[in-house]
Amino acid sequence: MEFKSLIQLLDYFQDEKTCIEYYENIRWGKEPACPHCGSLKPYKTNVGWKCSDSDCYKKFTVKVGTIFENSKLPMRTWLAAIFLATSHKKGISSVQLASDLGITQKTAWFVLHRIREMLKQNKPQLLEGDKVVEADETYVGAKEKNKHKSKRKSEDNPLLTNDGSIYREKRVVLGLIERSGKVILKHVKSKEGEEIDDFIKSHVPKGSTIYTDEYGGYSRLKLHYSHETIKHRVDIYVDGDIHTNTMESFWSVFKRGLIGIYHQVSEKHLERYLDEFSTRFNARFLGHQDRIETFLRVSESYLSYKRLVA
Ligand SMILES: [Zn+2]
Repeated sequence: MEFKSLIQLLDYFQDEKTCIEYYENIRWGKEPACPHCGSLKPYKTNVGWKCSDSDCYKKFTVKVGTIFENSKLPMRTWLAAIFLATSHKKGISSVQLASDLGITQKTAWFVLHRIREMLKQNKPQLLEGDKVVEADETYVGAKEKNKHKSKRKSEDNPLLTNDGSIYREKRVVLGLIERSGKVILKHVKSKEGEEIDDFIKSHVPKGSTIYTDEYGGYSRLKLHYSHETIKHRVDIYVDGDIHTNTMESFWSVFKRGLIGIYHQVSEKHLERYLDEFSTRFNARFLGHQDRIETFLRVSESYLSYKRLVA
């Protein structure tokens, strides 16, 4: 079986049985395991599996303990949803997904959050040391001018960030990207150097080359890295090989997705969206089937509706 398009995927996965067998093979290979006790000797029943361990004897399906648990949606619809959510580089809204698949928006919203939960498991932890890494920060959140006047910060008494600019209640997102490689994103709570420093040190091998702008939060990088800066403040954007254009072009897709597709993202969910954008970007060189199977292999996480809306 091979699919290279959504049409081929839907052609192949005509019924629930085909989908379940496909997913069982991805999740378990030749060794189905009881999700309750870990026993490797379950047997097949008419509706799924039953554990043969005398202390357990529990029934289960391949969906237990995964993002598909307790979902009444056919697996065919799930696979199509994963295809759509991970192939559009700016993402897909719950309204659009609901309309494409003929499901309710509430269901689509929940499906997308579970897909994000799966994508999160695929986050790279470490970039490669032999590649040049660009680090850059961006801001997401409410535009000050769109807020009601009483809620705006007084310009007479602005909170200043440590580069002297006015704090506008936006959230800072820091990105690390390898040229023609992977990206890692993080919502940093402050623009203080320490948090930025710790984040970079835990994801970029010592001794790597890092390019940033001249923002003060990066000033300690030279202790561990070969660090070069580009002087955006004096309108220099490229100095030979030194630039952060790779990160900038990622931000442009990210912003168009976050603003154009998702409109506004709450602080609570921001990290999930960052994982969605980074993981999808990092899988951009894979074909449709490889990409979907890469993600399905880490679908053993369970996000309940209760936890999501809590
Ligand atoms: Zn068991």
